Amino acid sequence: MRPDAPAPANGHAAAAPDAADVLGCLRSREQFVMCAHERPDGDVLGSGYALGLALKQLKKNVIYFLDDDVPKNLQFLPEAEFSQRTFDGVRDDAIFVFFDMSDQARAGRALARVPKERIIDVDHHLGNTRFGRWNYVNEKECATGALVLDLILGLGVEVSPDIATCVLAAVLSDTGCFMYSNATPRTLRLGAALVEAGADKDLVVNQLYQTRAFSGQKLLGRTLDEAVLTPDGICYAVVTNAMMDEFHATHDDLEDAVGALRAVEQCEVAALLKETPEGEYRLSLRSRGRINVQAAAQVMGGGGHFRAAGATVAGPREDAVAKVLDAVRKQMAARPTPT
Ligand code: AMP
Ligand code: MN
Ligand code: MN
Repeated sequence: MRPDAPAPANGHAAAAPDAADVLGCLRSREQFVMCAHERPDGDVLGSGYALGLALKQLKKNVIYFLDDDVPKNLQFLPEAEFSQRTFDGVRDDAIFVFFDMSDQARAGRALARVPKERIIDVDHHLGNTRFGRWNYVNEKECATGALVLDLILGLGVEVSPDIATCVLAAVLSDTGCFMYSNATPRTLRLGAALVEAGADKDLVVNQLYQTRAFSGQKLLGRTLDEAVLTPDGICYAVVTNAMMDEFHATHDDLEDAVGALRAVEQCEVAALLKETPEGEYRLSLRSRGRINVQAAAQVMGGGGHFRAAGATVAGPREDAVAKVLDAVRKQMAARPTPT
């Protein structure tokens, strides 16, 4: 897929005009550090590796910084093996590219002090704070990976099969394999163009959606067993550290649980609370489509999208659950369910 391919090869007419500043920076600077949000997912890592591969084609120096392990089901991504947990090799004039986060704090402590003048912010979250000196943000886009593809085409770099695989992983992560309503006709055309460019769709789907640890599936079973459905349509479950220990599971093993809660037919909003070793609760919220869970998460210091959002909530357990139910109910009252 090349930038001069007939529109809409990537589902977009061309690189958006507001990409010009970002493209100028990418062309003129020499070293780039790709930065992920905490608890990285397929969108943030696929985006970073895709742009990294493109910049390497332009002979730029690229570092993938990750203050985390690459989750097991994303280790197949091209470039994943080059992720580093240190700033070794980062020069004073390096530009830091932050992907898939609404504000800099989501990147975690290690990246909190990177000054604005050295940041490119590429994102699709509601309420993005434009925290970069350069920002390429579209809140309507299904995945940050799709914005990264705009940039890659804008750079005039050939979309190699590896780049296509990374972008496809990003898009399939954030659209639930094209299942969610954020997968528009344009997204489907983008998927086709990526497969034509050599993306390994079967590998991506297999890793993201068809491969699970046995212990994780057992934990999913227990989580659903514990779930509560309230009369007003909130389906929630709490996963404790004791449950995680019993199944020798990690938070990554719970990727599917909140989706399974949302699938309950009476469910308007699903909430999954995962206890952390510090006794806080990592909250995942999902909406069937009428209630804005991003607004509910924001009240608790988090954020996300209209239908998928998250936050970290203080314990103890009863307080955390009460706080979450209260925040969700306020949104339900703000936007009553049409009858
Ligand atoms: P998750 O439930 O972790 O898959 O997250 C759903 C969406 O909410 C993703 O787009 C996340 O980037 C976003 N999100 C999750 N946790 C937070 C948080 N603490 N602050 C802001 N956004 C978040
Ligand atoms: Mn993400
Ligand atoms: Mn995303």
